[in-house]
Amino acid sequence: PIHIRGLQKRFGALEVLKGVDLTVARGEVVVVMGPSGSGKTTLIRCMNLLEEPDAGTVAVCGCSVECGDRARRRERARQVREIRHRTAMVFQQFNLFPHLTALGNVAEGPLSVRRMPRADAEALARRLLDRVGLADKAAEYPARLSGGQKQRVAIARALAMEPEVVLFDEPTSALDPELHAEVLQVMRELARDGMTMVVVTHEVEFAREVSDRVVFMDGGVVLEEGPPREFLSRPAHPRAQAFLRLVA
Ligand code: ATP
Repeated sequence: PIHIRGLQKRFGALEVLKGVDLTVARGEVVVVMGPSGSGKTTLIRCMNLLEEPDAGTVAVCGCSVECGDRARRRERARQVREIRHRTAMVFQQFNLFPHLTALGNVAEGPLSVRRMPRADAEALARRLLDRVGLADKAAEYPARLSGGQKQRVAIARALAMEPEVVLFDEPTSALDPELHAEVLQVMRELARDGMTMVVVTHEVEFAREVSDRVVFMDGGVVLEEGPPREFLSRPAHPRAQAFLRLVA
């Protein structure tokens, strides 16, 4: 459901994406790896247009946006809304609403964006908290949850929008190592259920066991991509080899 062609993005003088092409099929799990500053976060933020690309095409679930074409702004606003509805994002720093309980965080999107009746939104939120193993934490506020629990609430919140694609931006990198497994387990189950996922992560084991494809970015382009077993054990590009020696 994702087709990206010729994506370019700069921040002032800094050219971060220099023409990225990437296709993600329905149900596919794609891991994006690469050195710090290579543009991974910018790429997935451009996928749901949290960042506005300077040029290129972003097509998600049948909605296509030609970037950099200012003349068609109004028409584009509708496409952007549609793409945001079909994608959900899980952030490194969780971004939970601190004044809402776990249940309130998960129910918020269904209530305010999907306009669900409160009873239905809360029933959905309870089902999703149960799915991420947090049924007993529904009434807790984020401040009283561990990092791993917060991230699982954030995943439940993403799923509450019934997205067709979930984008993960380094979902475990703000967590203590012993908390990675519980978050990766939830992601593994989501992948098994057939969700389309794009995951920026350096979790090599997750990439090996769960992903269908690894995309290696460096210097604002996709330098290499391939099935995880091949890419992780025999990367072709010297820069990929050097990177994997550091993270693996
Ligand atoms: P990391 O692994 O460190 O998160 P990354 O590959 O995800 O790196 P990005 O976060 O996409 O890289 O950032 C790429 C470059 O763009 C970096 O040099 C970063 O400082 C810069 N950058 C990102 N966002 C902005 C912004 N909003 N304004 C200015 N520069 C930015």
